Amino acid sequence: MRLAVDPREGVVRLTLPRRAALAAGLEWAESQRVWIEAAIAKLPERAPFGPGVEFPFEGRTLRIDWRADHPRTVRIEGDRLIVGGPEDLVGARVLRWLRAEARRKLEGETRSLAGRAGITVGRVRIGDPRSRWGSCSAKGDIAYSWRLLLAPPAVREATVAHELAHRRHMHHGPEFHAEVGDWARERGIETLYGLGNETAHGVAAFNGGDFGVGNGLHFNNVEALNAAVLARLPQVASVLVKGSRFMKMERVVQAIEQSRQQQKEAGHDA
Ligand SMILES: [Zn+2]
Repeated sequence: MRLAVDPREGVVRLTLPRRAALAAGLEWAESQRVWIEAAIAKLPERAPFGPGVEFPFEGRTLRIDWRADHPRTVRIEGDRLIVGGPEDLVGARVLRWLRAEARRKLEGETRSLAGRAGITVGRVRIGDPRSRWGSCSAKGDIAYSWRLLLAPPAVREATVAHELAHRRHMHHGPEFHAEVGDWARERGIETLYGLGNETAHGVAAFNGGDFGVGNGLHFNNVEALNAAVLARLPQVASVLVKGSRFMKMERVVQAIEQSRQQQKEAGHDA
């Protein structure tokens, strides 16, 4: 038997073996009440897109500016998102707008990058997958999460490049990483650090371009990678950390956040 709290839907899921009695399962879940309550308390608060709500959008913050007599067509004005119509439909309207924006941007970027690289693409879909930003089918259909619009643009661009690289290599092997390394160099990314055997090919491609030696380094363990990233932190404008759950890249993010926090605290003392 297994209990899990789904952070996206905020529900508790009880998984029973095929022949287990439901009553026994529920009784066991009931006995886990303390754990369940603690897990739910730890969930981030869900922010519905209501009037006055602020949310991250492409590296900045937008505030929902709703008035019933605003025009019904949602639009951005400075750091505000202008929304009209009935108040109880604001959330649905903003979500629909986000999905439409995601489609416009991601489909446009995918087709334009694919055209330049001579890659064919099937349909481009926008969805809300549980655990990934994007996916690419063997037929060449590409799907993205609309939530990419909540992230800085570099995350969106890296995801487009990742999925398009799958049009040449349907795996995460050496050739795939070389493709991504090429893209990062052409895109003008300043530094590329790789972790894990396969990414060495991405770093080599990044460094071996026509435009001189790139600033790419390969690491064998996350501690060495962290040290290199932290050493460069004061000079760089942004760091894009990308990797699978298997790579445990959240440890890199943690190290960066910790270091930023320490800098802030040091600032207070001074
Ligand atoms: Zn992939």
